[in-house]
Amino acid sequence: MTPPQRILFSPEEICMDWQQRQRPGPGLRNLGSTCYINVILQCLTYTPPLANYLLSCEHSQLCFQQGFCMMCIMEAHVRKVLRSSASSIWPKAVIRDLKLIGEEFEPDTAGDAFEFLCCALKAMQRACLGGSSNLDISSQTTTIVHQIFGGLLKSRVTCLRCQAVSDSYKTFLHILLDIKEASSLTAALEDFVTPKQLDGKSCFKCSKCEKKVTISKRVTVHHVPKVFTVCLERAADHTGKKISTFVEYPEYLDLLPYMSDTAAEPLLYSLYAVVVHSGDTCLDGHFFCYTKASNGLWYKMDDESVDNCGIHAVLRQQAYLLFYARCSDLKMREMAASSLTPSYAHSFLSECEGSSKQAGSAGPQGLPDRKTLTCCQRKNAREKAQSRSLQRGNDRCSRFVNSTDYDNSTGRKRKKTSPPGRDHTPQDGTDSKPSKRSCQRAPAPSAAQEQSLQRQREQGRSLRQGYDLRRRFVEITDYHQSAKKRRKHSFGINGQKNQSQN
Ligand SMILES: [Zn+2]
Ligand SMILES: [Zn+2]
Repeated sequence: MTPPQRILFSPEEICMDWQQRQRPGPGLRNLGSTCYINVILQCLTYTPPLANYLLSCEHSQLCFQQGFCMMCIMEAHVRKVLRSSASSIWPKAVIRDLKLIGEEFEPDTAGDAFEFLCCALKAMQRACLGGSSNLDISSQTTTIVHQIFGGLLKSRVTCLRCQAVSDSYKTFLHILLDIKEASSLTAALEDFVTPKQLDGKSCFKCSKCEKKVTISKRVTVHHVPKVFTVCLERAADHTGKKISTFVEYPEYLDLLPYMSDTAAEPLLYSLYAVVVHSGDTCLDGHFFCYTKASNGLWYKMDDESVDNCGIHAVLRQQAYLLFYARCSDLKMREMAASSLTPSYAHSFLSECEGSSKQAGSAGPQGLPDRKTLTCCQRKNAREKAQSRSLQRGNDRCSRFVNSTDYDNSTGRKRKKTSPPGRDHTPQDGTDSKPSKRSCQRAPAPSAAQEQSLQRQREQGRSLRQGYDLRRRFVEITDYHQSAKKRRKHSFGINGQKNQSQN
C-alpha cells in the first residue's frame, strides 16, 4: 500500500460534462488503411473529460517535451476537429508520428483499433509523465490519463487446501471481455467476476502450504474509472475467425454488481461511443464508430462521413469497443427529471436523500485465459485501395499472437512489413502547438451557470466519495507491462457483410 508521492493531476479538476455544446466536428480522411486510427481518434475526441481538458490547452501551456508528444498531438487534433468548419480533416500529425505511437503500426498497413487505442493511451501517459521517469508507480497513476481511464482490479486468490487468501491489485485503462458464452455485456461482466478454479498446474504456490496448490481466483473491479472502456473480444481463435454474434449492451450501465466492495451509491455510466468492425473475418474489414457529440446527439462516423443517427441504431451494432462515461450528479438529476428516466436515477435520488445502499456482493471471479490475435482489417476500399492492394495485398499483415494468459502474456511478436511510410507523409504544418492566446477556456455564457453548478456538485461528490488517491495502493502496477499484455486481443466485427462498403 504505497501512497503516491505526488499527485500529477487532481481528480477534482476533471469535468465530466461538456463545457461547450455544439454539433460534431468533421470526419477524418482515410489514407487507405487508417480507419482503425480514425475511429479511436473520434472516440477520444468525444470523450468529454478528455476533450474538456485538451480544449483548455492546459497541457501545451506546461509542456516542455522536445519532439514527439502525444498529448500535444491530441490537443491540437481535438482543437482542430471541434473548432473546424472543414468537411473533413486529415489527421496528419498522428500519421506522421505513427511509429512513435506504436512501432508495429505502418501508415499504409491495416491495424487493429483496440491495439491503437492501447498504444495511444500509453503514449499519452508517457507524455504526461514527461521527464519524471523516477516517479513512484503510485504517482504514475495520477496523470490525467489514469484519472480519466484508469481503474483498479482486485485479484483474490484462495488456496483451496488451506483457505489462505492473498489479494493483489492491478491498474487498468480498459478491460477485455470474453464473449464466447455471453449474449450481453452484463453477462460478460458477470463472467469476468465469476471465480475461476485453477489446478496445481497454474503454478500458484501457497505460502502457507509451501507447495503448488489448486486455487480459486476471483477478480473484481476495486476502483472504478471515470471512463470505462471495454473491448469485446471477437477473435474466436488464432486463425482470424471472428465471433460475429450480437452482444447486447445498454445505454446506461451500472458497474456496482462487479465491484469488490460495497458502494454508497450507484455506479451509473452512460454510453458515449461504440467502435464497430465490419468484415467476415479478423483479417479484413473496416472500422467505423458511433459517438455522442456534445449536443447530446448520436452520429455515425465512418472516416470522412459524419451522419446523424438515433440511439436505437447505436445499440444494434455488433460492437467491438464500448466507451462509457460515469454520470455526473447533474446528469443523474436531469435523467430523473425526464420521462426517460432509468430506474438508476430514481434510486440515486433517493440515496441522495439519505439512505445508503450496499453494493452487490461481487461474485468471485477470475480473469479468463485469453487467446489473442490481432486482426488486420482490409484497407478501406473507398480510397486508394486498388493500386496498393495489388502491390501489397499479400502482405496484409497477419499478425499473430500466441495464446496468452491474461496474467502471463509475453511480448508480442511483430511482423515487419513494408517500410515505414513516414517519409511519404506530408509534414504537418498546421497541427502544431496551438497558440496559448487562442485558448478559450470560458464556456459559452449560457452554459456558465450549469457548469458552475455542475462543478460544485462534482467537487462535493468527489469529496464525499473519498476518491482518496492515498488509498489507491497498487501491488502489481506495472502499467507498461499490463498494457502490453492487453494489447493482444482481437477485434470486433460487424455482422454486416462488410466488403468494400464504398
Ligand atoms: Zn506535450
Ligand atoms: Zn494453502
